[in-house]
Amino acid sequence: MNDYIWLLPPAHVSNSGEQLSLMDFNSHRIMTFPGPAEIGVGLLKAMDGELTEAQINTLEHAQDIVSVLEGEGLIVRLKRPLSEILEGRVWASRQLAYYAQLCHEYPERCLDALADKRVAIIGLGGIGMQAAQALAGAGIGGLILSDFDTVDASNLNRQFMLSTKDVGRLKVDVVRDYLLDRHPHVEVEVHAINPFESDSSQWERGDLFLFCGETHLAGDANELITHKPVIQAGYIGKEGLVGPLRWVEKGTPCHSCAIKPSTQYKEFYENEIKLGTSWNCSGSTINGVMGNILAEAASRVFMPWMDDALALNEAIYMDMKTLTMRRETIGSEVPCPHRVLPS
Ligand SMILES: [Zn+2]
Repeated sequence: MNDYIWLLPPAHVSNSGEQLSLMDFNSHRIMTFPGPAEIGVGLLKAMDGELTEAQINTLEHAQDIVSVLEGEGLIVRLKRPLSEILEGRVWASRQLAYYAQLCHEYPERCLDALADKRVAIIGLGGIGMQAAQALAGAGIGGLILSDFDTVDASNLNRQFMLSTKDVGRLKVDVVRDYLLDRHPHVEVEVHAINPFESDSSQWERGDLFLFCGETHLAGDANELITHKPVIQAGYIGKEGLVGPLRWVEKGTPCHSCAIKPSTQYKEFYENEIKLGTSWNCSGSTINGVMGNILAEAASRVFMPWMDDALALNEAIYMDMKTLTMRRETIGSEVPCPHRVLPS
């Protein structure tokens, strides 16, 4: 009864004069309510996230209508008034409405869960910068960004934060400027280094690691970080990949052990890298798709109450040719000496 009641946005209300109708934009279903329309209109207006259920229940017909709407999944419950949740973060109003679609009970938990978290992103190509932008908009408190590359004209088909005037600049500088212009509430820290050839202490401040660089670098990642969750993302040709979610402390193998099972494989990998050409296939669309899926999967690491989060060892594949996605659990059973099993 102390919950604040918010009619799920966007629910559209219409009043024909005699009858009150409400359309749920998700199902495109129209519901009609009996009784004088003005009573219903007043009631629906009262569900603006500023009144508690107890206050709303003092209005005529309130209990019946609230219970019908709740049964239809159109009521969102908040722990505090909507205006208080959004105080000082007006930019988050649409994001909160999005979370309300995913989580009807206390969606403000989603914003609150991200506000004090830092995500480290290694590699600021098309996927890494897309994920950084999406996480900033989702409400993440801080980003630690790493890339030692400079902007090249061949990046411009897909890396949306870059423009022709940035060619030759360090990517981390361009990305930081873009993010701070658009999301001044986010703390952005940048490093123009190879994270695997540097002191790992700076990465300790990250709560989650996203490896969006070259796969052979990502493979070394978990030997640095075994006690934090790690998600890899990338693509080969037309097929994109987000995951698997590795968390060595919780019992997954690390990336190194999972993707480099033999010395022979390692040699093959290194030879392949030497033969790399500038005709690397990097389409203009796959980066944004995978970067956004990565950001969605990453934010849910901090929202354990949310259904459909990535499970440990689980990955999402996208085939750009057929425009289909699938989820798979991969590489969970390989031996990993970096894993510390409970004694
Ligand atoms: Zn390992």
